[in-house]
Amino acid sequence: MDIKKLVAELEAKNPGQPLYIQAAKEVLETIADFVNKNPKYDKYAIVERLLEPERIVKFKVTWVDDKGKIQINRGYRVQHNMAIGPYKGGLRFHPAVTEDTLKFLAFEQTFKNSLTTLPMGGGKGGSDFDPQGKSDAEVMRFCQSFMTELQKYIGPETDVPAGDIGVGGREIGFMYGQYKRLRGQHVGVLTGKGMEWGGSQIRPEATGYGAVYFLEGMLKENKDKIKGKRVVLSGYGNVAWGAALKLEELGAKVVAISGPDGYIVDEDGITGKKIEYMDELLQTRNNVVEPFAKKFKSATFVKGKKVWEVKCDIAMPCAIQNELDAKDAKLLIKNGCKYVVETSNMGCTAEAVAELQKAKVAFAPGKAANAGGVAVSGLEMSQNSQKLQWTREEVDDYLKNRIMASIHANCVKYGKETDGYINYVKGANIAGFIKVADAMIAQGIAY
Ligand code: GLU
Repeated sequence: MDIKKLVAELEAKNPGQPLYIQAAKEVLETIADFVNKNPKYDKYAIVERLLEPERIVKFKVTWVDDKGKIQINRGYRVQHNMAIGPYKGGLRFHPAVTEDTLKFLAFEQTFKNSLTTLPMGGGKGGSDFDPQGKSDAEVMRFCQSFMTELQKYIGPETDVPAGDIGVGGREIGFMYGQYKRLRGQHVGVLTGKGMEWGGSQIRPEATGYGAVYFLEGMLKENKDKIKGKRVVLSGYGNVAWGAALKLEELGAKVVAISGPDGYIVDEDGITGKKIEYMDELLQTRNNVVEPFAKKFKSATFVKGKKVWEVKCDIAMPCAIQNELDAKDAKLLIKNGCKYVVETSNMGCTAEAVAELQKAKVAFAPGKAANAGGVAVSGLEMSQNSQKLQWTREEVDDYLKNRIMASIHANCVKYGKETDGYINYVKGANIAGFIKVADAMIAQGIAY
């Protein structure tokens, strides 16, 4: 493959889509050598084909607010690749959502889902709807209107959406109810469902748990231990919460979390009741972390600053794309941070990743480290098909010992460099690519 030509085409074909270009460029740069050693991929134009989503559905969502005013939002579903299974990926409701955001997320999802070992293709969707400050009734009316259109394009064997930023149990419930009303079917069309109506144990914790299991693999590779390590998390949502729970259980100390308003530092460690409070704070949907310091005496709120200035051994970005830049990476390195586990999707800028890798910090990309969430969604699909519900222990064991262990092993297999440093970005991209690419070749020129 001619990387220069591909990047030029990518940029020309996707004007105004910097996130998609960033995500795609990273994959191109890391798989180029591997692809060039295996000419079959060029023969079947696999890379070029993967750079184009199979389908993008874009639609209008109208709904009436509590004052009786008509509101108009944009809804999307990007169905990126279906080679290894039905499209699978979350829905993001956030005012900054554009087609670019969802194209990058769907692209990443294809590689991530391939890594999980489960039969899931890649997709992503969402809306520029902002759930913050809306009443439950408004969120319900929006979700019902959104699903009225989306249901034309999804199904348990075609495309199975789930949650992401701004879409949690409440939104999944409203959308599932509407799907059921329109189709008259109680099927596994969404994941992240309630435990009493088709959901899976461990799904709420899965992204955070999975990232910590992946971190354990990284530590082991460095003959290092998790116990006593200082950890800094960004965000205080579902993902950071799951990570905090598992980190506490394994004896690491979470010293900081953050919100859009600033960060909280707590040298006593964020444990027990404080972790429970993260969830309570999230439910208020006020998008601030400051109340945490009012509630717990040991905690201090630092306004408007990024959490990466807090000294740590391990940093886990758990909030949103590009939340950690080159300046932050340099600061982390200076303060002795040894592991960066990207738990949000593309949480680090390309420049930040380059800095970390140059300094030989162990860096895990989101598509490997945060795959536990979608993986347990995959297990939820399996349980729905079986009409069974597995125990917590069964799901956790599968997540830890079969899925996250396999993702880590694959990253090492394809990412280990001659000096022993593991380039997890390269490893994840190559391993994710192979399965999808080989399936595409086997299935002929169909997308
Ligand atoms: N939104 C999550 C992700 O980025 C989960 C997707 C899912 O469960 O389908 O992987």
